[in-house]
Amino acid sequence: MSEPDTVPKINFIDLLAQRRRLGDRIDRAVMEAVDSGRWVMGPQVAEFERALASYCGATHAVSCANGTDALALPLMAWGLRPGDAVFCPSFTFAATAEVIPWLGAEPVFVDVRDDTFNMDPDHLEAAIEATLAEGRLRPRVVIPVCLFGQAAEYGRIADIARRFDLKLIADSAQGFGSTIDGRHPIDWADVVTTSFFPAKPLGCYGDGGAVLTNDGALAELLDSLRIHGKATASDVAEAAFDHDPKYLNMRIGMNSRLDTIQAAVLLEKLAVFNDEIAWRNAAARRYGEGLADVVHPPVVQEGVTSIWAQYTIRTERRDALAAHLKAKSVPTASYYPVPMHKQAPYARFGSGPGGLPRTEALAEQVLSLPMYPDLDAATQDYIIAAVRSFFER
Ligand SMILES: *Cc1c(COP(=O)(O)O)cnc(C)c1O
Repeated sequence: MSEPDTVPKINFIDLLAQRRRLGDRIDRAVMEAVDSGRWVMGPQVAEFERALASYCGATHAVSCANGTDALALPLMAWGLRPGDAVFCPSFTFAATAEVIPWLGAEPVFVDVRDDTFNMDPDHLEAAIEATLAEGRLRPRVVIPVCLFGQAAEYGRIADIARRFDLKLIADSAQGFGSTIDGRHPIDWADVVTTSFFPAKPLGCYGDGGAVLTNDGALAELLDSLRIHGKATASDVAEAAFDHDPKYLNMRIGMNSRLDTIQAAVLLEKLAVFNDEIAWRNAAARRYGEGLADVVHPPVVQEGVTSIWAQYTIRTERRDALAAHLKAKSVPTASYYPVPMHKQAPYARFGSGPGGLPRTEALAEQVLSLPMYPDLDAATQDYIIAAVRSFFER
């Protein structure tokens, strides 16, 4: 493969290419939402919630302001409190761990597999047993992450969660749409959460998030918590109120709604989401064919379909490769250079037995290459040639 003479302008994620493709449809939907005047909880919000739930086969979707609140809402609904332990990876975006101390609970960090980058079920089991043996914290919840677009091992993790009576949240901010043997994580998890931050695979034009569940009572509680603990239909049925139930606050909640405009954007984006997942998979195949002999390409487990939020390679010469690519105008990113247990505010929290050696090694070795649905073959060939030229010098 030879490099072209002209250096293309390469984006790490080119959201404007998608905008050129979908702009007209989205602009019409946005203007309809603006002109309706129903900017908060307009009809598009409920319509999008139905479409999102149906996409992954969940019975309920509760939208909210962002993917971080989506993680916090179920923890609030389950009454997490000081003395509770939540098991999550350290090799993740901060939000996964951040919401746990909001409730006074503590994260216990679990190591990841070095091939899929996802939670290691064996280490999860060891971490739960060690926490029980120590006796200081009550194990309550486990939060695996669908890192870089690939569903974690929900079958094995759900078995472990059930055995220890833990709730299971799938943090699918990066992996919503990923399947295992054709099934979505909601088939195993009590709750699936996602984010609509623009750079996520299913992104809007600002912030947004959602919680998915098959538990109708939990969905009702989440709907209450996202709007200041407002009275639910069940609350109203149980007590005779002489006020507008809208101003009855039955529990301490928050303000976390998805804007009508963002729901309108997301309805258009969800309609083409499967096409985009197919294009991302085609791009991932092209990278794999071009790079497998020079770097460790990402490993997707048997039966799993990744949605490729990131295409993340592993190499012992990560920083030198990143500098080489930068000189050739290829933008890259290292997710995540400092794992959560090494971040100062999180240093006081515990980890599973033996620490997190694979997380620490990966933090020094991973490098994500440009990946987005509109990535064209010529640009990709330029990137592949640039990576190869580093190893072939
Ligand atoms: C982005 C992200 C979140 C948080 O989503 P926001 O919408 O940015 O709050 C949570 N978990 C993971 C794994 C993420 O990548």
